[in-house]
Amino acid sequence: MAAPNIETIVSLAKRRGFVFPSSEIYGGLGSAWDYGPLGVELCNNVKQAWWRWMVYERDDMEGIDSSIILNRLVWKYSGHEDTFSDPLVDCHECKTRLRADKLEFPGEPETSGEIAKMIREKRIKCPNCGSTDLTEPRPFNLMFETHVGATAEDDPSALVYLRPETAQGIFINFLNVLTTSRRKLPFGIAQIGKSFRNEVTPGNFIFRTREFEQMEMEYFVRPGEDEQAHHEWIDNCFNWFTALGISADNLRLYEQPPEELAHYAKRTVDIQYRFFPEREEEERQWDELMGIANRTDFDLRTHSRKPEDAAGSRLNQDSTEDLSYFDEARKERFYPYVIEPAAGVNRTVLAALMDAYSEKTNEKGETRVVLKLHPSLAPINAAILPLAKNKPEIVGMAKAIKRSLQPVLRGVYDDTGGIGKLYARQDEIGTPLCVTVDHQSLEDEAVTVRDRDTWEQERVKVSDLAEHLQRRLKEANLKSGV
Ligand code: ATP
Repeated sequence: MAAPNIETIVSLAKRRGFVFPSSEIYGGLGSAWDYGPLGVELCNNVKQAWWRWMVYERDDMEGIDSSIILNRLVWKYSGHEDTFSDPLVDCHECKTRLRADKLEFPGEPETSGEIAKMIREKRIKCPNCGSTDLTEPRPFNLMFETHVGATAEDDPSALVYLRPETAQGIFINFLNVLTTSRRKLPFGIAQIGKSFRNEVTPGNFIFRTREFEQMEMEYFVRPGEDEQAHHEWIDNCFNWFTALGISADNLRLYEQPPEELAHYAKRTVDIQYRFFPEREEEERQWDELMGIANRTDFDLRTHSRKPEDAAGSRLNQDSTEDLSYFDEARKERFYPYVIEPAAGVNRTVLAALMDAYSEKTNEKGETRVVLKLHPSLAPINAAILPLAKNKPEIVGMAKAIKRSLQPVLRGVYDDTGGIGKLYARQDEIGTPLCVTVDHQSLEDEAVTVRDRDTWEQERVKVSDLAEHLQRRLKEANLKSGV
């Protein structure tokens, strides 16, 4: 089973300290969220799993961490200043601001012109109040602006943007990485970091926010080898999500139709997750988790000083470098094509939480939430619990065991309830294993290890415990290929 809707996860996340509404004591800030003690661990685990899979387990990958604020010219030549916008519509009646392309249309409009026509003909309703009195769509640039240095606010030379994607930081460092790593095609550059988009209609919890984190990789190939590489990355990425424990039934591939493609893309396939299972219409249950684009040679070419137009003028008047690649073996120079798998950390966290959600009834007939998170994502590996908190010897032994496990896994000690309640709490936050110290432990130097998913228990010698827990966690990871 998976969560019946996002709301179930919102309340679990707040109740147990995964995610809190941001700035809540000042009334909140629309669609901003803070990650609490468990949420930060889950995010870190997602990022580590991605980095391990993408960078460490391959021979053709380098990582970087570029600035969030880049020279404004990066965004001029990437096309973001001109085209990174959503069509905005206002409702005259209730004043709600809406994304024109997300409205409900009779039939499927193919172009922005058709959308505008339907709105003009009053065939489209405001989803908030039902009025058909909507403004014409107009482009709204999603990049957040700020200024660098102690300059006047309206000084255009001080204008900069917070990056709306991490990808451009990779393209402008292509030559740096190529020359320092002495790479040959094909190879990739990976990056994880924050991105910012002034979304017109953020919402659905952490699904769409204005500040979010991306895991992006640009894979550079010879032109002509791009379609095969694209195909392989689509498969790789789909398998990564299933290896993380996300059910293939809740994942699907979506081929972006030509009218949806970004200006740089030759083909884009999204991996969608069933984020909205409660919606009646199957088609509306899905939304993007990751995009895998064939960006052609657009980015390396546009940031290069060399390309010229038909009249012989440089297309990029500002770049000081040529980001082309010289193939020694074939004595050929060209701009590599780029395959880009781009995923959101936050959407991956949301999909992992939704997919892991399950309910189980115990022998007393009580329904318990069990978060069956993949062990590599679980915020806590093992909880060490004393059966009696008023028995100093038991408490002392449990605390000593927790300390001894610290170097090898993320363990916590908890004595704030009876054992049934403690187990239930750990199940609800996805802790794969619980270790219980009881009266018998004082005599036989053994503890009970309880499994989150089966609730089965087994007795393990304290001297074997670290190895036992590590083996169990590793086995679970290997079973799914992570
Ligand atoms: P959407 O169509 O949902 O706006 P997009 O196609 O613009 O997404 P990309 O530019 O392909 O998104 O970004 C890659 C990934 O970054 C997305 O698949 C998603 O996981 C994540 N992402 C993009 N925008 C947001 C956002 N506002 N909040 C959270 N995650 C986001």
